[in-house]
Amino acid sequence: MFFDLQYLVLTIPALLFSLWAQRKVHSTFDRFAKVGVQSGYSGAQAAQAVMQSAGVQGVRIERHEGFLSDHYDPLAKALRLSPHVYDGKSISSVAVAAHEAGHAIQDQVGYPPLVWRSALVPLCNVGNMIWIFPFMAGLVLRQLSFSPLLIWTGIGLFAAVVVFQIITLPTEFNASNRAKAVLASTGIVSTQQEADGVRRVLDAAALTYVAAVAASLLQLIDLVLRQRR
Ligand SMILES: [Zn+2]
Repeated sequence: MFFDLQYLVLTIPALLFSLWAQRKVHSTFDRFAKVGVQSGYSGAQAAQAVMQSAGVQGVRIERHEGFLSDHYDPLAKALRLSPHVYDGKSISSVAVAAHEAGHAIQDQVGYPPLVWRSALVPLCNVGNMIWIFPFMAGLVLRQLSFSPLLIWTGIGLFAAVVVFQIITLPTEFNASNRAKAVLASTGIVSTQQEADGVRRVLDAAALTYVAAVAASLLQLIDLVLRQRR
């Protein structure tokens, strides 16, 4: 039932695009992790310098286990960098660290998409976990009069998750743009070659968000079309 033409046309390409984007971000990160920056900054030092140049105060920089697990936590005011990024003195390290510092700057200046995102995170996590339950219940109880209500409740919750993912896009692009600009103006990145490397690393990271949004959107379209048959 699920492995039909619509599924093949909508879901498989989205899945392949996501997998390709994941591979791309890993290979690009690895490639520029081998190229040092002439300024000699580590990721942690770069994050510190980027935040300092924007007047961000009270944000801790923490070493955080994992690979590409780097993130900024606006509630804890903590910038968590993975060991490769924290200690690394490469183009990849300073690029990712400066991107996360870009989120800290967004928090400091009250950049609206980040404010919305922070407010929506708990709701989105819940929606992502529970949408399937009313949806499946509606499918199982098809003969009951309220089954469409259950199905559309599930789809509505899933749609909310998709909206959340779309809201994160400008936040990511904006953080990367701030990172590129400040890395250049502070001299952490000093040559055109280094700037190109930073751009490639951050573009590859942005692609994974775009792929995630595309996959979710296509899945949503798939769900809606199934109900209209
Ligand atoms: Zn980000």
